[in-house]
Amino acid sequence: MAANLKKIECEPECGFMVRSHDENEIVNLALSHVSNIHNMRSTPVEMRGKIEPA
Ligand SMILES: [Zn+2]
Repeated sequence: MAANLKKIECEPECGFMVRSHDENEIVNLALSHVSNIHNMRSTPVEMRGKIEPA
């Protein structure tokens, strides 16, 4: 069930947040954010660990 809204928040200084019902979408957006904005590599597994209820 994809009814629950979820989110990943970046650091407070950054302010980036992605929120969706779709965990895969959140993970993909967050991965491209850290890569493009922070020039950091992360993994889908790592990003899934950051997902919280929104
Ligand atoms: Zn950020």
